[in-house]
Amino acid sequence: MSNEKILASLTHASDETEFFTPMPTGYEPGKTKYVVVFGTVMSGLGKGIFSSSLAKILQDKGFTVAPIKLEGYLNRDSGTLNPYRHGEVFVLDDGMECDMDLGTYERMLNLDLGRLNFTTSGQIFSSVLEKERQGGYLGRDVQMIPHVTGEVKLRLRELAVATEADVVFVEIGGTVGDVENAYYIEAIREMSYEEGPSNFCTVALTYIVEPQILGEQKSKPAQLNLKLLNAAGIHPHIIACRASAPVNKKVREKIALFASVPMERVFSMHDCDSVYIIPEMLRGAGIDAAVLDILGLAETVDAEAEERARAVWGDYITKLRGAEHPLTIGIIGKYTSVRDSYASIIQALEHAGTHLGAKVRLEWVDSSDLSESNVAERLEGIHGVIVPGGFGFRGVDGKIACVKHVRENNIPYLGLCYGMQIAVIEFARHVAGLEHASSTEIEPDCPQPVIDILPEQKKIEGLGGNMRLGGYDVVVTPESEASHLYGSPERIRLRFRHRYEVDPAYVERLEEAGLRFTGRSPDYPIMQVLELPRDVHPFFMATQAHPELTSRPLRPEPMFVGLVRAAMARSGVVIKPNCTGDGAGCGRTDPAATSV
Ligand code: GLN
Repeated sequence: MSNEKILASLTHASDETEFFTPMPTGYEPGKTKYVVVFGTVMSGLGKGIFSSSLAKILQDKGFTVAPIKLEGYLNRDSGTLNPYRHGEVFVLDDGMECDMDLGTYERMLNLDLGRLNFTTSGQIFSSVLEKERQGGYLGRDVQMIPHVTGEVKLRLRELAVATEADVVFVEIGGTVGDVENAYYIEAIREMSYEEGPSNFCTVALTYIVEPQILGEQKSKPAQLNLKLLNAAGIHPHIIACRASAPVNKKVREKIALFASVPMERVFSMHDCDSVYIIPEMLRGAGIDAAVLDILGLAETVDAEAEERARAVWGDYITKLRGAEHPLTIGIIGKYTSVRDSYASIIQALEHAGTHLGAKVRLEWVDSSDLSESNVAERLEGIHGVIVPGGFGFRGVDGKIACVKHVRENNIPYLGLCYGMQIAVIEFARHVAGLEHASSTEIEPDCPQPVIDILPEQKKIEGLGGNMRLGGYDVVVTPESEASHLYGSPERIRLRFRHRYEVDPAYVERLEEAGLRFTGRSPDYPIMQVLELPRDVHPFFMATQAHPELTSRPLRPEPMFVGLVRAAMARSGVVIKPNCTGDGAGCGRTDPAATSV
């Protein structure tokens, strides 16, 4: 039977067939190809980075790509996950709270993704249970196979229809052998059979250990785990071997032999110094050619588009390698021991630094250890400070002491979400004469709640007790520092994840005291960006948003560019006066010279 026929026979769920493959309207079999990436041996191999790099090299060739991450956990989204355990919660423009890997996809592919690009077992099961209540399964007992797997396949095909992608990239969360992703793997097995050989490419990422005591690479854990994948009915087309050093030929031969994958499709994916180098590394190894070959896409490559895309990306890498001016940015946080919780901030600083020629070193400062008496000492040698997003009252006094110090000592400051609320509290207390100012998140009965949950704002945005999530427009005050940084647009779009905000009742008083709210919601009295004018402070800006989420290598985020530029000036680099946020006119002169 041809694939079209197999698919056609599957489309109609009925009582008379064991097949159950619900199809989204408009699905054209064979139009979209699929690449699926599985992780074996252990987590933490950089599966998201690998998958997004692979997607990028196909995107470069002129193909429309759409990634999706399938998470095994039962939470509906990542909103309730502790960043200390799972890494940062990444928020998409449509408000979906998801895994930080989606950030990697957005940065690599320079795409805005949405809820269709992310699913969890929680979503899959909720949807199956809802359909069951509506009588959607025609009297059948609802089973993991074919109903739950059918739901997974439906999601992948819905993404294909909605994005009209040439290639859908599927990343299966977790590791082969986990209970919670086993049904995803089964869904992939079914779907690869349904879609047919030239439409499906499976890739196993594995890990080659090199125990210090032996001093040589060993392939056994990889072999055994690849066997598990085989037992699940998946014989990967491609195997990518993660390792710290290049994987030697003998080890690759063993992998090829035990997994029945030709040597030329077993690749070494050893460590490298920047994730942005990986696409070129994959291309150099020939993974792109292997995927094109398997999917029959070699004929439709747009070689000119590829050349252009490689040149642009190559330019970024050259700048990244050439960014040498040492700069120290302090991040004043709570989870300072786990860098994954600040992944996007780290990235945004790298993008901005690369853009301006600075190599940004991060100094992690735990706010719980900070106080007015030690802040000067703790921040010594730091050229710029970020107070990032956060929840709850722990470490708040340290953060306030820090903002006071940077404001009074002309140290460049960028406040992100909670970092803006802290800046408002600090300014209210020490400049605007509201000495009892606080946030009701920190002090529920506070007499001067400059930061609060405002019932009318909740109502108008239809939020209930929930967070304000996702992308919103921000109207920017003309001639402000923010407007200058973004290139004088009327509006910008930023992503949000907060529950509290500046109480508009205090705005006038704060502005009279010198604080400027230069970014506001177009529809409601929600303050979204604040700043101190240039003649008062070289760079003091904060936003209720999370601009770090929308920074990309090819599009550094202007507020981060502003911070890094000011920090460079503080560290002794002369910045040309006409330097704008998009980097135009930014240049370094004599690093030994000093400037404002
Ligand atoms: N806790 C603050 C709020 O809910 C800030 C949130 C954040 O920093 N993401 O408004």
